[in-house]
Amino acid sequence: MMTVQASKTATAIDAINLDAPIFASDAFRLNDEQAGIIATARELGQSVFAGRAAAYDREAKFPIENYRDLHRAGLLGIAIPKKHGGLGAGYQTYAIAAAEIGRYCGATALTWNMHVCSTLWSGPLADDLDMNAATRAEHERRRALHYKRIVEEGAIYSQPFSEGGAAAAGGVAFGTEAKPVKGGWLVNGKKIFASLSGHADYYGALCTEIVEGEKASRRNTLYLAVPAKADGVSVVGDWDPLGMRGTVSRTLLFKDVFVPEDAALMPRGVYFQAAMRWPHMFLTLSPTYVGLAQAAYDFTVRYLRGEVRGTPPVKRRMYPTKQIAVAQMQIKLEQIKAIWFQAVTEACANPTKEQVLRAYAAQYSAMEGANEIATLAIRTCGGQAMLKSLALERIYRDSRCGSLMLPWTAELCLDRIGREALYETGETDD
Ligand SMILES: Cc1cc2nc3c(=O)[nH]c(=O)nc-3n(C[C@H](O)[C@H](O)[C@H](O)COP(=O)(O)OP(=O)(O)OC[C@H]3O[C@@H](n4cnc5c(N)ncnc54)[C@H](O)[C@@H]3O)c2cc1C
Repeated sequence: MMTVQASKTATAIDAINLDAPIFASDAFRLNDEQAGIIATARELGQSVFAGRAAAYDREAKFPIENYRDLHRAGLLGIAIPKKHGGLGAGYQTYAIAAAEIGRYCGATALTWNMHVCSTLWSGPLADDLDMNAATRAEHERRRALHYKRIVEEGAIYSQPFSEGGAAAAGGVAFGTEAKPVKGGWLVNGKKIFASLSGHADYYGALCTEIVEGEKASRRNTLYLAVPAKADGVSVVGDWDPLGMRGTVSRTLLFKDVFVPEDAALMPRGVYFQAAMRWPHMFLTLSPTYVGLAQAAYDFTVRYLRGEVRGTPPVKRRMYPTKQIAVAQMQIKLEQIKAIWFQAVTEACANPTKEQVLRAYAAQYSAMEGANEIATLAIRTCGGQAMLKSLALERIYRDSRCGSLMLPWTAELCLDRIGREALYETGETDD
């Protein structure tokens, strides 16, 4: 664990003064162990990742060096149970640590989310779901193999589920198919926007198991760690997007890829059960954007105080209109933090209707709110602040991408909140 102490009093801007945590442990009642893990993420983010972020963005290059550092700091295994050599963090601790990383490098935080979810979903989340004893024992044996690779070898996992149609939105079965064969499956299909493509060691692909005589069904979804080096796996297409450029989310093709049984990150039927009973599993894309919201606010305060490194020490804080804009940003940031903290704190199996609606509202608030704060930051700081030599314009571009993430895009959150607030399960107007 890193041991650098935060200094709130130092004012020299060329030395690294550690930022205060987004969620102070005493105010948000985090225990020492949680605070320690989150501090490791924040310190690594600020002291190392922040300095590398511009180059990853400019070159649309995957932050592989950050991944080596995450491995050394134990953070690739943040959600892996301690008995398997991980840090044993729960959902809330992971989410806050990811927000701290997102504050300094959005692309690292977003891709780290895909990696961590393969351990969070197969770990603490799966522990909450129903399995018979034999299935649970087999799952325990299999996940130990995945965890060992991550903890000991620094293996990186990704999470391609998007296919360009309604499957990633939860509407229909995945078009990527897994045909049972002796000892495993033959996988065929195509995944778009597959973050970490070409860099992950395992692609945690969601696919539909073909069951003889049955139509493709979401109930038969499999979550398989496809080895990146397996025959039939290829990465195609360019990657030159508006933001989140370091995620390198290219297209993945699977052509008759043999995937062994031990590649299953969840037993048969368990992913479907998770999607039905543990909806907060889809809220894990939001921490990155809470971090970006904080970053836009931090930048603005520093800039208006004349304290941003690489800019003349000109103060702009004395103008009332700028003060009002900062007040609006601070209010928005606290609103995002409050609803989001509550939502990640109550993530569990079988949440109440109120908790599910709150989770959608938290996702919407973080994804849209981060970009609203970044937009206000650009307007308030002024022209020189949006030069590419400074972090703000990258934060602005990265923050625009949050609302697009399926299955909980901003639009789908609105759809669901409106419908589920007005209709009880099974109710119609007929
Ligand atoms: C930077 C970045 C990184 C990403 N990384 C990953 C990743 O690692 N893994 C991954 O799986 N995906 C990833 N994605 C993809 C993301 O989650 C979405 O799947 C993707 O942005 C959808 O693009 P689309 O053009 O198909 O979207 P859309 O057209 O918005 O949605 C696709 C389909 O969803 C359904 N749909 C969408 N909106 C509605 C609505 N309002 N009502 C009803 N149905 C609707 C429709 O069937 C639609 O055709 C990433 C995206 C970005 C921007």
